[in-house]
Amino acid sequence: MSSGANKRIVIGASQPPLAEDVLSSTQKVIHAALDRLGFDESYYELLKEPIRMLTVRVPVRMDNGKTKVFTGFRAQHTDVVGPTKGGIRFHPNVTAEEVAALSIWMTLKCGIFDLPYGGGKGGIICDPRQMSLAEVERLARGYVRAISQIVGPNKDIPAPDVYTNAQIMAWMLDEYGRIREYDSPGFITGKPLVLGGSQGREKATSLGVALALREAARSQGMQLKELKVCIQGFGNVGSFLAEILDQWGVTVVGISDVNGGIYNEDGLDIPNLLDRRDSFGSVTNLFTNRLSNEEFLTLPCDVLVPAALENQITMDNVERIQAKMIVEAANGPTSLEATARLHERGVLVVPDVLANAGGVTVSYFEWVQNNQGYYWTEEEVNRKLETKMVEAVNKVLSMAKSRQITPRLAAYMVGVQKYAEASKLRGWV
Ligand code: GLU
Repeated sequence: MSSGANKRIVIGASQPPLAEDVLSSTQKVIHAALDRLGFDESYYELLKEPIRMLTVRVPVRMDNGKTKVFTGFRAQHTDVVGPTKGGIRFHPNVTAEEVAALSIWMTLKCGIFDLPYGGGKGGIICDPRQMSLAEVERLARGYVRAISQIVGPNKDIPAPDVYTNAQIMAWMLDEYGRIREYDSPGFITGKPLVLGGSQGREKATSLGVALALREAARSQGMQLKELKVCIQGFGNVGSFLAEILDQWGVTVVGISDVNGGIYNEDGLDIPNLLDRRDSFGSVTNLFTNRLSNEEFLTLPCDVLVPAALENQITMDNVERIQAKMIVEAANGPTSLEATARLHERGVLVVPDVLANAGGVTVSYFEWVQNNQGYYWTEEEVNRKLETKMVEAVNKVLSMAKSRQITPRLAAYMVGVQKYAEASKLRGWV
């Protein structure tokens, strides 16, 4: 990425933030999960909110010479098993509640994948698409100065999230190193390779989703090569996912982006579509007969992968969903009511905290490599991710089956268990 005051930031992810009630719906499932595991109300009281939440105000000198003050947050859900871990999002709709809920989701992901962390999350209320690169850099550095007391390679390890990317991680790493006066690559993950990033990190979320899809299909007795898949969202996660599935011989029959959806029941030419994307990553504008978002979601297919927005499958359209399986690559695309209805109808919903945790899993591998100072090949990283993913998907789906519950509730049960146990062992509850 070149620098320059007039350049706009190249975004790393495209999901907008979640709806306001995301914290209360997450708490509802956490409560149900702890209850089923036999942990009493005091565990819920401890785990229902972050143990630490810092609000910061970051003054930034803008290119026009004036100072603008940005509000940011860093939430640490629980440090009961080790440091906290999770991304930092830059988005105009960031709220404290959303950051809190997302930190709980990070705990669940780390629990399901047995990573030695609790969940963390950061956010800054800003619109990086309206800022120059130099302004984004000053904001990123100012935010690190503001939160430096509570983060660190053994305290809380940030990473990219919505509208943040490897370049922003590099600036944050640099700022942290200046404050501490020593190089500390394990302070942050999702870094560029030359600064201690990991092979495979860029595509990790998509590979994780693809592996989750493969394992879930296997559990249903579906043949991978016979599957017809629709992917909603052709951003970072959706486009790499389409590429991986296509390489595996899966038929991708539909893709969509902000301009609409395209569908071909015999399969789309994915390499061609990837090549023809414009500078905003959009490709469907090249086609005249585009489908609306609503039409796209209800297309006939075996697997629907929402990889873009939250709250896409709700009670309004759930009865029209034709897919036999939904794999949540985005955060929160299916409402709790719609999840229950799909479960009744026998549609398997592979939940977000399971399906999209490939990113944080490879972030963990990045941190391990930084700590040991010895780096793995992309094949090694991918193999290790595959092992973790296969284990996690099978654990969650077999619990869902044996207890006759939704995979979402099973994922929360698997995810929250070690934090409840560790809280007891430490004498916190
Ligand atoms: N932001 C990503 C997530 O929500 C990755 C977090 C990480 O790598 O620590 O899972």
